[in-house]
Amino acid sequence: MSKSVVIIGGGISGLFAACICAKRGFKTTVLSYGQGALAAAGGIIDVFGYDEKGKLIHDPLEHINSLPSSHPYGKIGAENVEAALNTFLKLSAEAKYPYKGDVHKNQMVPTGIGTFKPTCLTPPTIDGDLINHADRIVVLGFKGLKDYFADLICENLRRNLPKSSCEILSTEILLNFESSSACRDISALDIARKLDTHVGYLNFREQIKSYVKGKTLFILPPVLSASPSTDLLDLLDIEINAKFIEVSAMPPSVTGYRTELMLKNIAEKLGVEIIEKAHVFASEVKDKHCSYVMTQGFDRIRKYSADHFILASGGVFGNGLVTQMGRMYEPIFNIEIDVPKNQQEWSHQYLFTGRPQPFATYGIETDNTLRPTNKGQLLLDNVYVVGRALAGYDFCFEKSGNGVAICSAYHAASLLE
Ligand SMILES: Cc1cc2nc3c(=O)[nH]c(=O)nc-3n(C[C@H](O)[C@H](O)[C@H](O)COP(=O)(O)OP(=O)(O)OC[C@H]3O[C@@H](n4cnc5c(N)ncnc54)[C@H](O)[C@@H]3O)c2cc1C
Repeated sequence: MSKSVVIIGGGISGLFAACICAKRGFKTTVLSYGQGALAAAGGIIDVFGYDEKGKLIHDPLEHINSLPSSHPYGKIGAENVEAALNTFLKLSAEAKYPYKGDVHKNQMVPTGIGTFKPTCLTPPTIDGDLINHADRIVVLGFKGLKDYFADLICENLRRNLPKSSCEILSTEILLNFESSSACRDISALDIARKLDTHVGYLNFREQIKSYVKGKTLFILPPVLSASPSTDLLDLLDIEINAKFIEVSAMPPSVTGYRTELMLKNIAEKLGVEIIEKAHVFASEVKDKHCSYVMTQGFDRIRKYSADHFILASGGVFGNGLVTQMGRMYEPIFNIEIDVPKNQQEWSHQYLFTGRPQPFATYGIETDNTLRPTNKGQLLLDNVYVVGRALAGYDFCFEKSGNGVAICSAYHAASLLE
């Protein structure tokens, strides 16, 4: 009989871990409650963007070799990081939503305000390199789209782009929305769903085609389909002969949503059971060994037993870690996080100080197998911690969030016996 694994959390780390476990022949169950950070963040995979002094990293994989063992990548090791990212690239290609990028190279992608940020792997709709080949950039805004400013992006691109001969302009697209959405702000997801319809697509195509002159690149919010598919991108490429790059917009994040759907589709095809609205609230542990975890649903308490458990419940943002004044803890296995009692020491006085913030690095300490430890002592022998719950990195400062999530998920899933 195959061995079993229960994964707690259905964010990027939990879903990717599930894919790897199922591929390795484990009976895999994901207990998922609430939305992961993907719903707010984009689907781009930062691996390592800036060192601790804020210097841009060109080769993330090479940099990982220099990290201490307190950093999650230091525990995972560069070889496993490379294998994890290449596996992610391969799975996304098989799912016909092929991520782009090279694990040895950071690319610069435009942000939702027209600045640039380093990242490593990008969804097919965010190929930063296209900017270098464009003679004309047209920034598209959409009437009614909340907090998305095409003129601001345009202005900042003019300031930031080295290629002075490139013409940069902006324009606004008007799509008709039914009365139900006319009563509220329009989100990028509404527009993406609209462009997935034949009428919406034709309307959009007709409004942009007169802007195509020479090598034209359109920069737009993430609206090129609500599904993890390149059909719309490919169709536009053929029908109007232009390129497109999406930039982020206000949540719900469409690129994050597509990545989540892609991973769920892959996992389900591999036979993973994903149980939603399953809030894990406790565990049964004896002699450092977990036998089951418990969920509290609408009706009753359920127990989920397994040979192994992967804790992918995220950080404070996803409720995987809980904070109180002077205290932080993980609530399912009751793991205390070593934090200063004096809350003032949790952060530097100013948020943007050009160095990592202490609070951002707090999380669960582990050994090199990602099993939780306290002062070097193993706490649980069949529980592995992945993703944002791990200690030792400030994803926001160093630009490593989804990279650590994917690589730790792969590492833990590969270690199960
Ligand atoms: C605003 C924002 C922007 C970001 N931008 C980027 C970016 O551009 N690039 C990048 O690489 N990274 C980015 N990140 C970081 C990245 O999104 C996270 O590091 C990564 O998604 C963490 O994934 P995770 O699976 O570990 O956690 P999460 O995504 O938080 O998922 C954890 C899941 O577990 C669930 N859960 C929690 N407790 C329980 C429980 N008791 N029972 C069942 N389920 C539970 C949560 O509801 C959630 O669904 C960003 C993060 C944020 C917040």
